[in-house]
Amino acid sequence: MSSMAIHLEEDLQHVDLKRDVTKHLKRGHRWIFANCFDESRTGKSGIRLLKYKGEPLALGIWQADTQLRFRVLLLTEEPIFRRNNIERTLELYFDSQWRKALEIRKTFDLSITNSFRLINGEGDGLPGLIIDIYNDTAVIKHDHPIMEKVWNAKAIAEKIQAAFPQIKCVYLKRRNDESEKGVNIVGSLAPEVQFLENGVLFASNIRDAAKTGFFLDQRDNRKIIQHFSSGKTVLNLFSYTGGFSLFAAKGGAKEVTSVDIAKVAIEAVERNFKINHLPTTHHDIAADAFDYLEKQILEKKKYDLVITDPPSFAPNERSVEQAKAAYTKVFSNSIKLVNSEGLFAASSCSSHISSQEFMEICQESFSRARKRATLVYFGAQPVDHPYPLAMEELRYLKFALFRLD
Ligand code: SAH
Repeated sequence: MSSMAIHLEEDLQHVDLKRDVTKHLKRGHRWIFANCFDESRTGKSGIRLLKYKGEPLALGIWQADTQLRFRVLLLTEEPIFRRNNIERTLELYFDSQWRKALEIRKTFDLSITNSFRLINGEGDGLPGLIIDIYNDTAVIKHDHPIMEKVWNAKAIAEKIQAAFPQIKCVYLKRRNDESEKGVNIVGSLAPEVQFLENGVLFASNIRDAAKTGFFLDQRDNRKIIQHFSSGKTVLNLFSYTGGFSLFAAKGGAKEVTSVDIAKVAIEAVERNFKINHLPTTHHDIAADAFDYLEKQILEKKKYDLVITDPPSFAPNERSVEQAKAAYTKVFSNSIKLVNSEGLFAASSCSSHISSQEFMEICQESFSRARKRATLVYFGAQPVDHPYPLAMEELRYLKFALFRLD
């Protein structure tokens, strides 16, 4: 196998566009959907040269079986493009994107935050490739099976270890429902990996965890929660392994309640409290958050701070209206549990709900709960989750902290 990070399997074939999307690509967008190609010619997935009216336009990855049909690596007009040496072009391209990605991640002081996203797919110019670092473990994850062929995990592992000598294990994580959940590329994955986020220790069973092991994207927002938690009673709904809960405790919360439907997630909350030796009283409850909310409203229970970060309710564009209704319901019910002058943090990770729509949902939620509020902070995804300016759809995370008036 070659030592190149982007692996070109066979001689480069081309695909023909039937529509002119040059402007779209030149603005920095990286996706072309199936309707821009002749539907009868799908062929095999892999690296292809994209042509329009016979002229080469871009190099990218063809996904024969998805509506998202072509993902751009680079345009042929870029100076590093070499018409007669595609392998060299791919190598130069990877190295330049890699260097730029590392530059952004230099912002992390590894003695307080050694967990971060090293490569964020399109956002780092490397479509379909996710690399997350958890202390001494790197996790590679793809979003389409062809990516295992395109991205040469061995060569990438070498580059990871060269940049981060502390890495002892590089693990390729597949979908949780696949027969083989993942493979070790370097070393061997520990049953539990411990890592730091802003001075708080977290443990993850990476093999079975959601995504690559942790929701790294809420880092900055958890820090905000830390600043507002002193002396407060906190309810963290859809807590997963307790990211927000631990930061509330670290910020001096009086009492923290975490609710998640997954028992393993709740067990992980307990584990995370334990390894941080925090004295905070905590209630870790495996329950349906929607039911829990209804019950607490009936019991007239109140908290000083409620955090509601549900899973995405809008997996696609068609489900947006339904999702808006679901967010409004769960947010307005959450607001009913907040003390007067207390705080409410709402978040949504759905890329199909824009920031503006999210704020409209929040307004409607407060109106339904018959409360007025002040926006204290608006957050999004952190620096290790960049996205191309032209691809607003990859700006998915919204987080708003309100104070009830
Ligand atoms: N805030 C978390 C991430 C939340 S991810 C963090 O900072 O890490 C969404 C979580 O919602 C998942 O852990 C999932 O198990 C949980 N979940 C999904 N449906 C649920 C339901 N009906 N009730 C409670 N939790 C639910």
